[in-house]
Amino acid sequence: MISMPMARLVERVAGGERLSPEEALALYTEAPTHVLGRLADQVRARKHPDRLVTYIIDRNVNYTNVCVARCSFCAFYRPVGSSDGYVLSFEEIFRKIEETIAVGGGQFLLQGGHNPDIPLQWYEDLFRAVKQQYPAFRLHALSPPEVIHISRLSGLPVPEVIRRLVAAGLDSIPGGGAEILVDRVRKLLHCYGKATADEWLNVMRHAHHAGLRTTATMMYGTVETPGERLEHLFRLRELQDQTGGFTAFITWSYQPDHTELAGVEATGIEYLRTLAMARLVLDNFDNLQSSWVTQGGKVGQLSLGFGANDMGSVMIEENVVRAAGASYCMDEVEIVRNIEDAGFTAKRRNMHYEVLGDPFFREHHVARMTTLATAKAEGEAGVPTELLNYPARSREGKAARGDTAGQNAK
Ligand code: SF4
Repeated sequence: MISMPMARLVERVAGGERLSPEEALALYTEAPTHVLGRLADQVRARKHPDRLVTYIIDRNVNYTNVCVARCSFCAFYRPVGSSDGYVLSFEEIFRKIEETIAVGGGQFLLQGGHNPDIPLQWYEDLFRAVKQQYPAFRLHALSPPEVIHISRLSGLPVPEVIRRLVAAGLDSIPGGGAEILVDRVRKLLHCYGKATADEWLNVMRHAHHAGLRTTATMMYGTVETPGERLEHLFRLRELQDQTGGFTAFITWSYQPDHTELAGVEATGIEYLRTLAMARLVLDNFDNLQSSWVTQGGKVGQLSLGFGANDMGSVMIEENVVRAAGASYCMDEVEIVRNIEDAGFTAKRRNMHYEVLGDPFFREHHVARMTTLATAKAEGEAGVPTELLNYPARSREGKAARGDTAGQNAK
């Protein structure tokens, strides 16, 4: 039984009216879960009446785990000088591209730590080399805090960094590093220094003005209030009203294992309620992804009834949330089964959410549950010698470069 004011609010939302922050908070904190789900499903059906659910075959490659940001919720990073620190060589990255193409993939989600020994030139050389060898391969790369890190390292303004990266081959920017776009929360999570809420949004604004399409994300379940989650969503809605540059929104719950912050993970119900609220607030976003990597296949499937119209990635490599305890894995066959069992038609897409075709495995032979090497394989060097060709910023990096100066200087 819901109250009369709530029933009237539900009716208005069902009629397509835009939510105010106060109304969103009332719905998020008081509406029964099935009501939120029904409303979000109605929005999904209005936006995607063809009942298509898409997914992409790509690979989440983390080019380095060395990071000076040291966010308290992160189990992936290693400090500068750590014996576990790594940087991938161009050769390893090319090998990963070839493996990805072989299983039907056409892009990387390429992200990494804020490594002070990787200058802008390294990214430009990498992107150019990738585009030269694999012209059709797409680079969905470098989240806003990485762009800010490169801007600070190089002393160049963010729009100039984006311009240079696009000239070298950057195709799209992933929405990572948003966490919660409220500075009170960012300070508590030690991620205010890497990017304030305004700085994150400004990178996306510049990227959209430069003609790039990007995604937006939200990691919830740490120290924020329900109102702050909604503030995050309203800030994204506002920017999308201005630029229209976001292709999709993805939310997931904080994964606490092996992190400094620790704590407990939010429940699957909370995930579904949060996803549904995102579908209702973000009325100017076309696509919402399911986060089955953190929630598991079955909650991922349920999310298709709570506003999601995309199953994200057939992730043949993922290192970051895995380091924090999320270990769900689905190959293309299983993703497609989950989509079809929920009554939808499964289609492969590209980074712009354009449909590419039917499931790859129905047209080609692909081994089930292909597991490819993640991050660095056993016995591989932590830092490739080619990195010594680039100027270093850290004491450790400078010492390493000094050892080989002369032989490797460009
Ligand atoms: S979340 Fe990203 S920026 Fe923060 S410590 Fe981990 S790798 Fe570094």
